[in-house]
Amino acid sequence: MGRKLAPGTKLVLASHNEGKLAELTELLRPYRIDVVSAGALGLPEPDETAPDFAGNARIKALAAATATGLPAFSDDSGFCAAALGGEPGVLSARWAGPNKDFSKAKALVNERVGAAEDRRAWFVAALCLAWPDGHIETYQGRVDGTMVWPPRGENGFGYDPMFVPLGGTQTFGEMDPDAKRAISHRARAFAQVMAACFG
Ligand code: IMP
Repeated sequence: MGRKLAPGTKLVLASHNEGKLAELTELLRPYRIDVVSAGALGLPEPDETAPDFAGNARIKALAAATATGLPAFSDDSGFCAAALGGEPGVLSARWAGPNKDFSKAKALVNERVGAAEDRRAWFVAALCLAWPDGHIETYQGRVDGTMVWPPRGENGFGYDPMFVPLGGTQTFGEMDPDAKRAISHRARAFAQVMAACFG
């Protein structure tokens, strides 16, 4: 049982990633939470120095909660290739370089995996709610699938066009956003947040 967020609460979304902000805003919509983004408040992006998703999610949510005096919600997530021992993982954003070029990041994954037989891949999302008094709640979700090349589809963001979830044929980039939202790592982590902290 987590600490509750009442309807009408003002919540800072501690992310500067447009794709994540769109998905988190959509997931939060039914809960009548008053969402404001870190970018809109002019908050800086803290350095993500933790070795795992949960640690980086905590850094981002705590930084935003401390800076604003409001509860804050963060997402740290990434794409993991089995043939690369789970990389790029927490470095998923960094593989895109300073220009956040995800064509480059996807090509780099494809190049490093090369002809390896193992095409298994997965996405992980750690979601963290932090309050200004330092209380935190962290939940993690994962979706397994296969990596494909060349990338397919214009929906979603990041590595979506090179990932087909298990049992599917379309990439996350081809799928309807609602269909991705039904099964994604972020939605799976969000279901736990919801059960613990909403209502
Ligand atoms: P970070 O959590 O800010 O370190 O960034 C995570 C990176 O992982 C994002 O910039 C995306 O490239 C990638 N990523 C995380 N979730 C997704 C997703 O749902 N689809 C595609 N790429 C994702």
